[in-house]
Amino acid sequence: QNHQFAENRYDTMQYRRTGRSGLMLPAISLGAWETFGGYRGEEIARECLYRAFDLGITHFDLANNYGRPPGNAETVVGKVLKTMPRDELIISSKAGYRMWPGPYGEWLSKKYIVASLDQSLKRLGLEYVDIFYAHRPDPNTPLEETMAALDLVVRQGKALYVGVSNFPGDDLEQAVQVTKQMGLTPITIHQPRYNLLDRGREHNLFDHTVRNGIGVITFSPLAQGLLSDKYLGQDIPEDSRAAAWWGNKANEEVVQGEQLSKIRRLNKIAQERGQTLAQMALAWNLRLPAVTSVLIGASKVAQIEENVAALNNLEFSEEELKAIDEIVPR
Ligand code: NDP
Repeated sequence: QNHQFAENRYDTMQYRRTGRSGLMLPAISLGAWETFGGYRGEEIARECLYRAFDLGITHFDLANNYGRPPGNAETVVGKVLKTMPRDELIISSKAGYRMWPGPYGEWLSKKYIVASLDQSLKRLGLEYVDIFYAHRPDPNTPLEETMAALDLVVRQGKALYVGVSNFPGDDLEQAVQVTKQMGLTPITIHQPRYNLLDRGREHNLFDHTVRNGIGVITFSPLAQGLLSDKYLGQDIPEDSRAAAWWGNKANEEVVQGEQLSKIRRLNKIAQERGQTLAQMALAWNLRLPAVTSVLIGASKVAQIEENVAALNNLEFSEEELKAIDEIVPR
C-alpha cells in the first residue's frame, strides 16, 4: 500500500496529557472491538484507520479477544498497521477475558498475561505495544503478581506503558499502592466505560485517577451507537451494530421506552448546540479534565469525520449541563 498520509494531520487534533505521564493522547481515539475483524472486514478497517490517522487520531485500541473469532481484530488491524508509521502511533492491547481453554486462558495470572501479550504481538506483527492493560479485575490472583507481570513485560520491552481497565476505584487504589510498595512500573492510564447513559464512574473512579495522576480513556462514549441519531426512528438501521449483533433484543429492550425518550431529549439539546447527538456525547465526556481521551468505535469513515468535528464545540453552559443532569442524573 502506498497511501500518502495527510501532511496537515497534526494541525487540528487536540492532544492531551495522560495523567502525570509523558504520554500525549488524541482527544479522540479509535478502537477495534466488534467492528474491525468483526462485522466489518479488512477493507473498512483500512479506510477507517487511514482516515482517522489523517485527522490526527494517533491512538488505536485493541485487546486479545476482539474480533470474530477472538484475536481476529489484532490480525486485521495488524495488517493495516504494517503500512503506517509505527513511531507516530500509540497501539494498545489487553488481557483479562477468556482467550483460550484451560486454567491459563483468562484472568490476571503472570502465566496468562505473559503468554497473551506474546500472542497479541504475533497477531499484530509488532515488537511492542505502547500500552498494555489488565482488562478486568481478577478477584483471586494477588495484585502483587499481576502488577509484577505488567512490570515484567515493560522491562522486557514488550510494552511501554501499563494500564488497567474496568477496575473500580478501590481496586485501582490498591493496585497503585502495590506498584509503589514494590517499586513497579506505575499505572499510566485507566480505561473505564463512561457515557451519558452510564455515569457511575463519576462516583467511584475519577477522584482516584486524578489523585494518583492517572489518565483516563473512556470506552463506549456513544453507548455503542445508542447516543447517536441512528436509533431515534422506529426501525433498527440495517447497517447498524444492533442489526449485526444484537438481533431482536435491540428493538425490544435496548432502545425502546425510557431509554429512547432520554435519547430523544438529549438529541434536542445537541441540536440546540448545533451538534449531532454523537458529537455532544463526546464533548460531554471531554468536559472533565479527568478524561484524557474518548475511545470511539466506527463502522464507516463518515462516523469518524462526524465525531472528530465534535472538537469544534467542547464548551457547555451551566444551563446545558443542568438540563443534561435532569435527563440523565449523576
Ligand atoms: P462507541 O460507544 O463509540 O460505539 C461505536 C459504534 O457507534 C460504532 O460502531 C457505530 O455503530 C456507532 N457510531 C459511531 N459514531 C457514530 C456516529 N457519528 N453516528 C452514528 N453512529 C455512530 O464505542 P464502542 O462501544 O465501539 O467501544 C469503542 C472502543 O472502546 C472499542 O473498540 C474498544 O477499543 C474499547 N472498549 C473497551 C472495553 C473494555 O472492557 N476495556 C469494552 C468495550 C469497548 P454502527 O456499527 O451501528 O454504525
